[in-house]
Amino acid sequence: MAITPFVSKRAPFYAGVTDEQWNNWRWQLSNRINTVEEFEKVIPLTDSEREALSAADLFRVDITPYYISLIDPNDPDDPIRKQVVPTSKEMVPFTAMMEDSLAEDRHSPVPGLVHRYPDRVLMLVTTQCASYCRYCTRSRIVGDPSATFSRAEFEMQIEYLKRTPQVRDVLLSGGDPLVLAPKILEEILRRLREIPHIEIVRIGSRVPVFMPMRVTDELCDILQKYHPLWLNIHVNHPNEITAELAQATDCMTRAGIPLGNQAVLLAGVNDNVHIQRQLVHDLVRIRVRPYYLYQCDLVEGAGHFRTPVAKGIEIMEGLRGHTSGYAVHQYIIDAPGGGGKIPVMPNYLMSMSDHKVVLRNFEGFITTYEEPTDYLPSHAAKYLGEKRPEPGQSGVFGLLDGERLFVKPEGFDEIHDRSGIQHRLKDPKKWVPLGIGEGKEKSEPAE
Ligand SMILES: *Cc1c(COP(=O)(O)O)cnc(C)c1O
Repeated sequence: MAITPFVSKRAPFYAGVTDEQWNNWRWQLSNRINTVEEFEKVIPLTDSEREALSAADLFRVDITPYYISLIDPNDPDDPIRKQVVPTSKEMVPFTAMMEDSLAEDRHSPVPGLVHRYPDRVLMLVTTQCASYCRYCTRSRIVGDPSATFSRAEFEMQIEYLKRTPQVRDVLLSGGDPLVLAPKILEEILRRLREIPHIEIVRIGSRVPVFMPMRVTDELCDILQKYHPLWLNIHVNHPNEITAELAQATDCMTRAGIPLGNQAVLLAGVNDNVHIQRQLVHDLVRIRVRPYYLYQCDLVEGAGHFRTPVAKGIEIMEGLRGHTSGYAVHQYIIDAPGGGGKIPVMPNYLMSMSDHKVVLRNFEGFITTYEEPTDYLPSHAAKYLGEKRPEPGQSGVFGLLDGERLFVKPEGFDEIHDRSGIQHRLKDPKKWVPLGIGEGKEKSEPAE
């Protein structure tokens, strides 16, 4: 790996700061930039940025000295600048804009715990971050110090997890769990580890990107006591991959923490296949596996970051097959209204018959795969005694599995209930209850 000096970039404004201060994460946190006056000392602001910074109700601004130093001060379109310096475009509402676009609050059994999927939960442990992304999906709560989670709420989260045995994976997020005081972070990890059915703990953190000096040997020592622990960082642009970040990921990798990356597709930042290819290549070089590329959420203040979905498909077309499979992330639309993560990709399956499928590869080579005509599926899974505690969430797989016959859109029954005269196409006394899924209710004819 090309090693540039540890203190590779520092805006001229910080020339007088000692290395000891610079490399101290607490110094980085307490010297964050957030006012017009402070900004002007580091980067000259555009009119739009100055207007935003002077606006009331602006989503919180804070940028670490380390991260702001990565910005080219003379480039108003710098991809790092766009992620953290607000512009007046944040004030522009757009169609379908929502405060809580993922309906997380509706899926929270207790404050700060989002139980959306059958076997895993999202646990929000703080509202604070090292710096604030302008497109934050959780800007309704993030950054607000008065909205931070209390001890009582933490205990409620733990109690819920204890009584919910289907949860085998807890994802710590926020805010950013790695800005918590080490003692508090350790207590959270320890309390989760005391719950036997929790198999893995994951952390989602942008601290290694905003403040890599936080990833000390001491932190890695704490984290590795709570394995299996996985961690996703959040890098959007190759310019964020510095020697300092490489050192942080190296430390965590040596501590046995598998690292992934979650990027967000952002107009004017990384909405280009060449940037994306560079990004994923640089990530695998620092041993970070690209995990997800998210379509930008429909959240207030983030409208100008959205791209058409076609841009994401085009990027995936330019990655899959063109580079290492390890470097290809999955493109995800997190469905508005709480539908959850939906993967989208180019079509590779072109057609099929009862014994053959037609496929195309990344080069446009069209081929066939001959399927067996005597296939008998194995029933091995039955003997594993696998428990599926939430059959209601079996979804489309449940249709294939025979657990349900159909899935109805909301309001389906109401619109089809014409309250008309009973059709005697069949003798209702002889109706056979289906006993499967939602077909059941049709077995009781109204009199
Ligand atoms: C993203 C997310 C998860 C984790 O999803 P994976 O696809 O397993 O990474 C879990 N819960 C919620 C609410 C989420 O938004």
